[in-house]
Amino acid sequence: MTGLVDSHCHLDDSKFDDDREAVMERALAAGVERMMAIGTGDGPSDLRTAVKQAEQFPFIYATVGVHPHDASKATPDSFVEMRELAKHPKVLAVGEIGLDYHYDFSPRDVQRAVFEEQLKIAQESGRPIVIHTREAWADTLAILKEQWSGGGIMHCFTGDEEHAREALALGFHLSFGGVLTFPKAENVRQAARITPDDRLLVETDCPYLAPVPHRGKRNEPAFVVETVKRLAEVRGTSPDAIARLTTANFDKLFVGAR
Ligand SMILES: [Zn+2]
Ligand SMILES: [Zn+2]
Repeated sequence: MTGLVDSHCHLDDSKFDDDREAVMERALAAGVERMMAIGTGDGPSDLRTAVKQAEQFPFIYATVGVHPHDASKATPDSFVEMRELAKHPKVLAVGEIGLDYHYDFSPRDVQRAVFEEQLKIAQESGRPIVIHTREAWADTLAILKEQWSGGGIMHCFTGDEEHAREALALGFHLSFGGVLTFPKAENVRQAARITPDDRLLVETDCPYLAPVPHRGKRNEPAFVVETVKRLAEVRGTSPDAIARLTTANFDKLFVGAR
């Protein structure tokens, strides 16, 4: 396979400290030509983390954002820095932002306020958004309906067909990761079946959620190939066709937004 894009990876994670460059080499060798490094880092004090990687490697692009887990650590200065970083030519999106009511690491009202503030930053900078939502679908959608008009990605999409239709109706792309390959994830495969060609993306969310047959191990961008293969089966097409489609969608979403 060639020309793949991993549209969501955490290459700054400490699990890659020992062999980060080898991980990148394996990705390139597997046909992953570009990777979107998510810039949430260790929290709002670490907003530059993905930008630094994007400056170092031509095949890496970056996002900036405060993860809902870290919402309570955000300060007015965090948003000043984000506004500045969002102008960087290799920063393609604001993310990952959203709501996580599973862990509730930050109080929900703080999560919502920080999410809304970052939607403003994305709107001002003309960047699409990368959404993280877990056990918070209704609130996430209500906020997006009210306060967002633009492109975006539902990252690591694990909803069912109905959730998919709601997100698609709002104009979002659905990005599928390793969960699509899990035996019990038939609802996710059904969502992937009904997603139109022009809204489909793939990702690893590495180092988390490695696809079968690597499930349970550290995930890495090269493994996106397994998700592409499974997606091809689910949609009755070839892995090469999925690769072409998802890469074209990635380019259109981000180039179209400039
Ligand atoms: Zn996430
Ligand atoms: Zn992530």
